[in-house]
Amino acid sequence: MSSVLAVGTTICLVDVNAMFASCAVIADPSLAGRPLAVAIDPSDRRSIVLTASYEARALGVRTAMPLGQALAACPDLVVTPPDHELYRRSQRAMGALLERFTPLVEWVSIDEAFFDLQGCPALAQGAVAACVEIRRAIRTELNLPVSIGVSTTRFLAKMASHIAKRESSGVFQLQPADVARVLHPLPIEAFHGIGPKTAARLRAFSILTIGQLAATTPHQLTSLIGQVGNTFQADLRGDGSATVKVAAAAAKSISHELTFAQDIAGPDDLRPILLALADQVASRLRRAGLAGRQISLTVRDRAFSTHDRQLTAKQPACLTEEIFRYALTLLARFPESIFPCRLAGVSVSGLVPMAPEPATLFDAPGHAKRALAETVDQIRQRYGDDAMLWASTLGSAGQELYDSTRHGSSFRTGAIADRSEPGFSRRRKKAP
Ligand SMILES: [Mg+2]
Repeated sequence: MSSVLAVGTTICLVDVNAMFASCAVIADPSLAGRPLAVAIDPSDRRSIVLTASYEARALGVRTAMPLGQALAACPDLVVTPPDHELYRRSQRAMGALLERFTPLVEWVSIDEAFFDLQGCPALAQGAVAACVEIRRAIRTELNLPVSIGVSTTRFLAKMASHIAKRESSGVFQLQPADVARVLHPLPIEAFHGIGPKTAARLRAFSILTIGQLAATTPHQLTSLIGQVGNTFQADLRGDGSATVKVAAAAAKSISHELTFAQDIAGPDDLRPILLALADQVASRLRRAGLAGRQISLTVRDRAFSTHDRQLTAKQPACLTEEIFRYALTLLARFPESIFPCRLAGVSVSGLVPMAPEPATLFDAPGHAKRALAETVDQIRQRYGDDAMLWASTLGSAGQELYDSTRHGSSFRTGAIADRSEPGFSRRRKKAP
């Protein structure tokens, strides 16, 4: 059965406002209304702020700021450590609530989900009224403040959700006909999917606003930033994906592969690339809430012959270091004759839902690693995949990988799947 149930024209993105800070208030209601920050180690002034409440933001506290600086800006700042179990519980509760309205709910991060209202009874009152009702239910039943964007595609719904944060209703509907009026005046940095590097490149060529991006000729734009320029313009025309995918577990595998600009001479040069590939796969697994036991490594040699090795892990894996370790084991099983090689790919299949918690009784370090990985995911969600890299992937090949995937940021799950997740997308077809 296809994992894609419907293509809708009533695509919504719901985003929890300052999720970590909002959950801290759920855990301790006395914190409501106080300037609040979440940091990995509240006692360490070098620890960075993962999320700040709106009250703290008003006083100058920013995400990614070292705690010392945040406390200097706001001496009354309350700092709490992250509570990933609480975030997962809140996410599950919100998922259950959304599913009262529609079965088409797709999580793209711990605090963001697409949902499609097409065919739902709630839609009879209109999409905006339905979303206002959903938002009120989330607020009153779960104590979570959310913003909801409504539009015809994932991209436009995402852009609408940013605007919704400034609306008193917390809901904003963006019609494709209003894109020019609403989005074109915004700076290109506001375009979801454009990171700082691409923005700087566009600015250098006097493309400063989303409107100017839309008005650039496709030829000129692709010569500046590559094929992704076409995707950006299609997104603005409302031609982006309108598919809300459900049942991620129906995916057979999650994989990532890279064709090298120059052949890789030997295992020493391949290892950092495998780490980067393992990191990409692990991060996608966690985003989809999945883990897998079958790990495979594909290498293509100079003569275009493709070689595979596979193993079955004892436990389903979803952490970079686990998948990397298995990839190294597999690498040792290849003959030396695969070098020089021109492509490598890491794939994880045999997917199961990620355990809600690792076996903590004897596995406290595993728990800490998982919490750390999820924190990294959160930072990447906000700042892009290259916001945090494994130090040993920072060689040129690792950097190449991240550059090639840097547009695959959080909400573009569908778009990434089409472009760079062969194992994830090959089995998915858009429903008619
Ligand atoms: Mg959020």
